Amino acid sequence: MLCVTDHPAEHHVTRVGVVGAGQLAFMMGEASPGVGVSITVLAATPDDPAVATCDHAVIGDAHDVDAIERLSEEVDVVTFDHELVDLVHLAQLERRGVVLRPSASSLRFAVDKTFQRQALSDAGLPVPRFLAVNSSREPHVSDFLDTLNGPPVLKAARGGYDGRGVLFPASRAETLAMIDELSAKGEVLIEERLDLLGEVAQLVVRGNDGSIVLYPLVTTVQSDGMCVEVRMPAEVSAQLADDAAALGRRIATLIEVVGILAIELFVTTAGLVINEVALRPHNSGHWTIEGSVTSQFANHLRAVSGQPLGDTSPTHAYAVMVNLVGGEEPSSLDAALRVPGAFVHDYAKSWRPGRKLGHVTALGDDAQLAHVTAWKSARAYGTKTRET
Ligand code: ADP
Repeated sequence: MLCVTDHPAEHHVTRVGVVGAGQLAFMMGEASPGVGVSITVLAATPDDPAVATCDHAVIGDAHDVDAIERLSEEVDVVTFDHELVDLVHLAQLERRGVVLRPSASSLRFAVDKTFQRQALSDAGLPVPRFLAVNSSREPHVSDFLDTLNGPPVLKAARGGYDGRGVLFPASRAETLAMIDELSAKGEVLIEERLDLLGEVAQLVVRGNDGSIVLYPLVTTVQSDGMCVEVRMPAEVSAQLADDAAALGRRIATLIEVVGILAIELFVTTAGLVINEVALRPHNSGHWTIEGSVTSQFANHLRAVSGQPLGDTSPTHAYAVMVNLVGGEEPSSLDAALRVPGAFVHDYAKSWRPGRKLGHVTALGDDAQLAHVTAWKSARAYGTKTRET
């Protein structure tokens, strides 16, 4: 007798919707054929980068609940390219049966920095000391500032990225003025400024069944609040890498994320301190496209579509990723591509000085050579960020 099985254990879905059509959705689109899913993006305009690499586009605003609903009608599951979303809208859609991965309650950790700090701190996890305020005149501000060893860091609780919405006042007077400047747009986090020995990022993937895999810890290098370079593996002790992995598992479980979770961590003399979490593919994982058996984009799509997670082992001993940033002159993609050994990604975004336009990865058995190759290509492109 002919037996037709319908693989009851394999109930993964194939139509993925992505809210936002920037570079992360662009690279999800590139990864999608290998994962066996099709992608429909919610794009603000037909010129958004990911429209070129994804299968379909719905044109609309990520803040418009009807636009996300139109997207959801075309797909089985909805995921995200960015965190600039309205959680009330998302919860409404979930109540109407739309499947969001990650869910609205998971996303709250990424959308709202105050909630994130509080929830992680309540769980006993290491975060900088902080106070959330709406004005410099609130009663606890002075007392909190008095407990710090110097000026704090100020952060917009919502909407910041690439260092936008993060301020470093030099004096008490400047601190108060900057709190009021930032609070014009919403809640402000006043945060203890830590002495950083370095910064690292732990990328975690959590499947729809709760399974977890981790990528190797990486070093991230920032300049003016923007990530300029990522090095795999992180230049830290084995103990610190183990601590980061343990934190990664705990946080992924706490958040109940489905998909990629990126955890940015400060390295301090007292150990690791959590800076922030992102619930989407992350700049610190772009090296995985060529440098890992399964890229972060493929693993994100596997997770949100309900498939088993892929192997996160690196393909080479070292990987270095450098962001391609618009310089004073229009960039030269050809010049960047001419550098042997450089894997160049251009996100098809319009050129603007200081804008992240792509990235380049170099791999190998020699950390220094990978570093030189990646920077050579980035310089040829026109990137002016400071080399480290
Ligand atoms: P964004 O969300 O815009 O990426 P972050 O919160 O990651 O901003 O801050 C950007 C950078 O500012 C960090 O990578 C770090 O270099 C520095 N920074 C942020 N918070 C602190 C802090 N509490 N102490 C010291 N440096 C900080």
